[in-house]
Amino acid sequence: MNATASAAQATGTVNSDPIVRIIDLHKSFGPVEVLKGVDLEVHRGQVVVILGRSGSGKSTMLRCVNHLERPSRGTVVVDGEVIGYRVKGHKLYELPSSAIAKQRTKTGMVFQAYNLFPHMTVLENLIEAPRRVKGVNRDKAVADAMQALEEVGMALKADAYPGTLSGGQQQRVAIARALVMKPSVMLFDEPTSALDPELVGEVLNVMRRLATSGMTMMVVTHEIGFARSVADEVVFMSEGQLVEKGPPSQVIDAPLHESTRAFIDSIL
Ligand code: ADP
Ligand code: MG
Repeated sequence: MNATASAAQATGTVNSDPIVRIIDLHKSFGPVEVLKGVDLEVHRGQVVVILGRSGSGKSTMLRCVNHLERPSRGTVVVDGEVIGYRVKGHKLYELPSSAIAKQRTKTGMVFQAYNLFPHMTVLENLIEAPRRVKGVNRDKAVADAMQALEEVGMALKADAYPGTLSGGQQQRVAIARALVMKPSVMLFDEPTSALDPELVGEVLNVMRRLATSGMTMMVVTHEIGFARSVADEVVFMSEGQLVEKGPPSQVIDAPLHESTRAFIDSIL
């Protein structure tokens, strides 16, 4: 067996193009550089969990992946498309906001706060973006929405208003709302941090099922149990840089860097 074949067997990913490529990503807010050259690849079907202290740049990195933040330098490629820019020769030209909105559908983002529209039912929340951004007709949008709600176990609440749901249920709807756009990658930014402890499990279970179904995922979370059991790769970020990256058995249980070890100890 040649080296490539054995490496592919070991990782299952070597020959697949990455779904997400983050290349030399820098981001400054005014004089403060919060991302200092991040490189990361996420392959199809991989779950990458991002750990790090508050302020280390995790959210900024995720937000650069869908151009909610504009990188100061560096490139993000999702599913073969440079995010936010059109490439011409060796130059990048920023895309108009309508084109960026379309690109953003490649990345389903789930935030700490569920951000559902309170005056719309669950179903209306789910069909809004497919209709407006993708021009999907209403019947198809409803069918897709019901399927996404099935996937998160919320189909029975299609006609409910968000305010009548628990935080865990609202977050499951928020996940469905992202799924309905058929994203290439799901980005989760501390999706359970705002939930009462008894509601965390149902959201993690939905994420676990998504991972098992083969969804490509980048997940910022402090849920170490989830990271240990679901992540293919764990990344530790500190002060705008990736300090350590590897399987959970390494980064969580046998970190190479002192800062990783100190962080893991602080949240266990
Ligand atoms: P994390 O998600 O790891 O807690 P963030 O990416 O939210 O970290 O923030 C990284 C740093 O960037 C923090 O110091 C934060 O205060 C700063 N920051 C984030 N967003 C902005 C912004 N829009 N303007 C100015 N500073 C920001
Ligand atoms: Mg954050």
